[in-house]
Amino acid sequence: MKPLLVLLLAAAPLLASPPDQDPRGDTTTTALLARALESKGAWQVAQHLTDRIGPRLSGSANAERAVEWTAGTFRSWGIDVRLQPVVVPRWVRGAERASLVAPAEQQLSVTALGGSIATPPEGLTAPVIEVRSWDELRALGEAVRGKIVFYNRRMDPELVAAGRAFAAYSHAVEFRGTGAIEAAKLGAIATVIRSVASHSLRTPHTGAMRYDEAVPKIPAGALATEDADLIERLLAGGSEVTMHLLLTPERLPDVESANVIAEIRGREAPEEIVVIGGHLDSWDLGTGAIDNAAGVAMTMETMRLLHAMKLTPRRTVRAVLFMNEEFGLSGARRYADEHPAGTHFAAVESDAGAGEPRGFVTTLEGAALERFGARLDLLEPIGANGLASSPGTGADTSVLTRAGVVGFGVAPDNTHYFAYHHSPADTLDKIDPRHLQQNAAAMAVLTWILANEAGPLRESEP
Ligand SMILES: [Zn+2]
Repeated sequence: MKPLLVLLLAAAPLLASPPDQDPRGDTTTTALLARALESKGAWQVAQHLTDRIGPRLSGSANAERAVEWTAGTFRSWGIDVRLQPVVVPRWVRGAERASLVAPAEQQLSVTALGGSIATPPEGLTAPVIEVRSWDELRALGEAVRGKIVFYNRRMDPELVAAGRAFAAYSHAVEFRGTGAIEAAKLGAIATVIRSVASHSLRTPHTGAMRYDEAVPKIPAGALATEDADLIERLLAGGSEVTMHLLLTPERLPDVESANVIAEIRGREAPEEIVVIGGHLDSWDLGTGAIDNAAGVAMTMETMRLLHAMKLTPRRTVRAVLFMNEEFGLSGARRYADEHPAGTHFAAVESDAGAGEPRGFVTTLEGAALERFGARLDLLEPIGANGLASSPGTGADTSVLTRAGVVGFGVAPDNTHYFAYHHSPADTLDKIDPRHLQQNAAAMAVLTWILANEAGPLRESEP
């Protein structure tokens, strides 16, 4: 095609109609924002999930109660809902205790990583060897045999202070998933990581780990950062450190659970989907408030508002409460298997807590990023008009965004997110009701804009 023709075709939809493409104009979006900011709907959902249902570990009875309650709530609002079966692991935490045996007796604060096997019933006792990188582990070689490997990497406080807590997390979490495999290859008998946390009141932070069937399985725990500091100081001072570790979790057979999928059908292009969502499961230590009752609450509130205001978008808006984000993303994979990426116009995820609103991250770049960013100007009064480019916008929608779907992630202030994330302290009091509702309002507005947007989001600039 000739360049001039491309230019004219690209510009045509913009010239032909206002950018909102909503026959009722921008006043609808403004009304949606105003109504959303007056509502307490998101808080009510977050409170029910955390206080009345509680921890929602994949495969648990509480996770099933959360499926039933959220589906029933959509139904009670008059919104179409269905369950999509998802197979999830069932892992049950047992007793967990750790203490120093040498240089002197003292209790430590420990938790099992999700998926860990148990120690022997009486626990195990062994010298601790500290590792800060994979290279260091391999260089230690035979010295690791018979020991407890202590993976010691901090979240960088400067990155956290600079608003880049997720980058600090990604760097520090490196050993959690496969640390037990790599240590076991060298003959280690257990591993403990420094909890991946930006701040601590001696709470250990859990998270998923995995095994390789070809390598012996060894137990894996996480120490509170204060205890990681203690061991670091003792080793730096030349002490021999010996630890006693007792973990008694159990892996049971997989069970069937479900994604909860609710839908408001589009009036002009119902086959084009704007998917929005967050994960319904949580870790078992806290009540999964910031991770991720908050994201579920924002998603459900978006749907409730659109339905209550009788707003029928051009495209279909589909809410997915994903099961099992924390323990292997099987809900996200199941969803993507059944709903090919090509049917999606955009994917919006909320899984970054409910701090003070800042706006969103997106996979859009360059001119497309700038153009769409301007569409969020009306969120400026609540500070949610930011739009920053990021390769990842959420784990559950990553299967779609990797296949080319434009992704968005709700991205509030994250300074305190990793102080609570995956710990016993992730409880409802960590959510500010006003910030939660403002983020929900921002998600609702973004969803409405996307569902009515005129042209493709990545259309090249004339
Ligand atoms: Zn999460």
